[in-house]
Amino acid sequence: MAETARRIVLASRPVGEPKPEDFRLEETAVPTPGPGEVLLRTRFLSLDPYMRANTDRYAVGDVVLGHPGWQTHAISNGNGLRKLDPKLAPISTALGVLGMPGMTAYAGLLEIGKPQPNETVVVSAASGAVGSIVGQIARIKGARAVGIAGGDKKCRYVKEELGFDDCVDHRAHDFPDRLKAACPKGIDVYFENVGGPVFEAVLPLFNYFARMPLCGLIAQYNATALPEGPNRVPQLMRNILTKRLTIRGFIVLDFAAKQADFLRDMSTWLREGKIKYREDIAEGIENAPRAFMGLLRGENFGKQLVRVS
Ligand code: NDP
Repeated sequence: MAETARRIVLASRPVGEPKPEDFRLEETAVPTPGPGEVLLRTRFLSLDPYMRANTDRYAVGDVVLGHPGWQTHAISNGNGLRKLDPKLAPISTALGVLGMPGMTAYAGLLEIGKPQPNETVVVSAASGAVGSIVGQIARIKGARAVGIAGGDKKCRYVKEELGFDDCVDHRAHDFPDRLKAACPKGIDVYFENVGGPVFEAVLPLFNYFARMPLCGLIAQYNATALPEGPNRVPQLMRNILTKRLTIRGFIVLDFAAKQADFLRDMSTWLREGKIKYREDIAEGIENAPRAFMGLLRGENFGKQLVRVS
């Protein structure tokens, strides 16, 4: 029987938490590449396709990085693809530690956070793709790294495997007190991945001239309304003013010029065993929606990937 292509499409735009009904699995015939085009076959989602080619820019079997969406096959004109060398590192690392999440950690921490030796660097979602790398780079730069993660298992991994100085469970009922105890000299750099109550516990601990690279706000992504209670913007503004805080949002693409530095440094650190990483691999494209919904609830443990073929 001829191979069919499968893809996940949005059945409806999620309102609040994404639900299984927001996604639909579709099957079609595998498309045929025209002149100058390549047929991509996805290996890993967030994503690593490999190819059958009708162009001399790529050979059949080349492994490339691209953005064709949640599907098993896609046609491309070859633009925007980057060839990967499977001999240098497992190809899945191009989606994690040696890819966009690694670059996000590297650029956000070093260009905005600018950690100095003996300063305290705190990072949320510390066992995840971005956060795990942030804390390890902070240690390489001589800073003290404190992670924030959900649950004992993740916190133990962050301390024992990744070598952070401490890690605090944001689900603990006395989380703000525990965070304060883990940061006896206050916080000089806070790498923000989550927002919400975690940020509220961090705010009073900032030192003068602290820096906050604002990378993500995962606690807010499913929100459909502003939180209840008193308006806390004045308190935030007062802290920014009196403590001379630098808060800067960024998107990883802002630092494209640092890509070569990132690949050089990160490859060296990996080779020297100074950076460790963990992947959480869901099997099969049909499980992509479930893995995505789990990511927003902290069910992943490390960089979330989907093995497609
Ligand atoms: P992770 O691998 O860190 O997975 C997400 C983690 O977030 C979960 O495992 C969970 O960890 C934590 N989390 C989920 N909900 C909450 C909550 N309500 N409160 C606290 N923690 C929560 O994902 P990534 O490393 O891929 O992404 C981390 C952040 O970086 C995201 O906000 C993402 O959007 C952002 N990002 C930004 C980029 C940019 O260019 N600015 C580029 C790439 C990512 P736990 O169980 O420990 O709570």
